[in-house]
Amino acid sequence: MGIDESLAIAVSARSLAWADYKTMPVEYVAALAGASELASSIYRAKQSDKLALHRAILLLAHQAQRTGKRKRLYLSPQQAQAFAAAALTEVLNPKCQMCKGACVVASDTKRVTCSTCNGSGVHRYADGERAANCGVDRDDWSKWSRRYEMVIGIARGSDDAVAHARVRLG
Ligand SMILES: [Zn+2]
Repeated sequence: MGIDESLAIAVSARSLAWADYKTMPVEYVAALAGASELASSIYRAKQSDKLALHRAILLLAHQAQRTGKRKRLYLSPQQAQAFAAAALTEVLNPKCQMCKGACVVASDTKRVTCSTCNGSGVHRYADGERAANCGVDRDDWSKWSRRYEMVIGIARGSDDAVAHARVRLG
């Protein structure tokens, strides 16, 4: 199952019950010692682990609500989950959708710089796309963008933590 499909299922699940996803394989936690539970879940979600993706959404939503409270950027539980799922969509799908991150595309007989990403290989998530992913009206996005930046900031921080943990573990 691809990551998009997994996300669709995760997001459309009627109730993301916290208790269902509490178990983590011990060896995995040990392998990523030093990385947070959220970071470990994001790492596993990258390998199309559906349960880890559910877990990452829940953990990120919880953390976003806690951080949001402190920063007066309040999110309801439903909003926090929707924003967490949208932020993870970005973290798990960073590549340009046209060239799949290759930076070049085939044109007739030659390969040319991908015009969608200007050769960066990275997909730039525009406000409209972010609003749609969060289930928010595009016209209202300015009201939500700071909250979204906060949520994706937490997700990116955790994603980086795994990269660092992997370097440390060799
Ligand atoms: Zn591209």
